[in-house]
Amino acid sequence: MSRQIEGSFLALTCKSRLGICRLLGQDGWWLFLCVSEHTEGSVDRPMLTLGIETSCDETSAAVVEGERRILSNIVASQFDLHRKYGGVVPELACRRHIEVISQTVETALDEAGVTTDDVGLISVVKGPGLIGALLIGVAFGKSLARSLGTRIIGVNHVEAHLYSAVMSNERIPFPAVGLVVSGGHTMLFLMEDFGKYRWLGGTVDDAVGEAGDKVATLLGLPYLGGPLVEKLALKGNPRAITFPRAMIRRTNYDFSYAGLKTAVLYHVKGYGGSRRDGDTVADAERADIAASYQAAAFEPLVKKTLWAAEELAAQSAVVCGGVSRNRTLREMFAAAASKRGIPVFFPADELCTDNAAMVAGLGAWRAARFPDEVTSDFDAFPNFETFPSLEGFRDPRAKRKEKQR
Ligand code: ADP
Ligand code: MG
Repeated sequence: MSRQIEGSFLALTCKSRLGICRLLGQDGWWLFLCVSEHTEGSVDRPMLTLGIETSCDETSAAVVEGERRILSNIVASQFDLHRKYGGVVPELACRRHIEVISQTVETALDEAGVTTDDVGLISVVKGPGLIGALLIGVAFGKSLARSLGTRIIGVNHVEAHLYSAVMSNERIPFPAVGLVVSGGHTMLFLMEDFGKYRWLGGTVDDAVGEAGDKVATLLGLPYLGGPLVEKLALKGNPRAITFPRAMIRRTNYDFSYAGLKTAVLYHVKGYGGSRRDGDTVADAERADIAASYQAAAFEPLVKKTLWAAEELAAQSAVVCGGVSRNRTLREMFAAAASKRGIPVFFPADELCTDNAAMVAGLGAWRAARFPDEVTSDFDAFPNFETFPSLEGFRDPRAKRKEKQR
């Protein structure tokens, strides 16, 4: 159903099953109205959690039973929308989240074979991410929780990535070193136990996933090319070109990817001008560039993670986030870690990139241990503030920001 309200509101959409009404405003103002007869259902199975993830360019909803059994995990990717811009356009991402969030949640419930009556907890990402995108998930989650009388918890997206490895592996020995490698993050933690974190380091500039996507563009590969660089690299020689291994010294646990990106740019285009484009470089050379780039990008990740594990007497290492899906990275970790006797754990493939199953699982995990966190009294934050108590955190980009002032 759709109708005009006072000229300024454009659409009112009713989803009868969920009882969700959506009002869209033409000035960018919007709100969700939820009307439902729901009361808390009594369930004699482990609690079901509905997860909602809208931190960047994926609208995702999932239903998880207990803390790890995934009943559904729907990811509505915006890949097609941003492809022609070569990166995520925040305004477009927000508009698409609004368009698809109701349907995505409904599909997640349907696929799990449950209704909102069965849901005991809603878990929603409150940060970090694009603020407009986060606000949509948070407003939607809170509205739904309010109308259903369901409990709600706000969780941190980076912690959810770490939890994705816990969901996929029955027993991870702690303390563990945790590496998060994705399109927006490259961070290293010590986890005394799951939920107890010490900051070790992070990228001082770009994230490794973002660097991979830029290298893909340089090589004439389509948008979001990290996985395509991986495929191309399989045909190349990782020792063909010696790209710089940034911050490889053992003095800290920080990383840097801006210089590597520039090195690949100069290699492809030539110094001082546009000598050639990636798609005009011969196939064999492109494969060598891709393989050599991956070797340079991944070596610091593997070395620093395992050094940290040794120095801090960790029992294992956990590697998660979109880039952890990369087989070459996994093999490099496996080879180096087996020499040192450190087991390395990864999430299942479908849990590496952004998804709501990890959000639901983490929400259930935290709600069981930190009941005070089960509240609708939280806000969306674009930065890292929402990470639970984190010993020793310092912003690795702070020095650079200071210089820019
Ligand atoms: P974020 O949480 O930062 O939004 P995701 O966790 O969804 O990002 O990860 C997306 C990133 O992971 C993208 O940069 C993408 O290119 C990268 N990625 C996904 N699969 C692979 C792969 N197989 N090899 C390398 N990079 C990958
Ligand atoms: Mg992510």
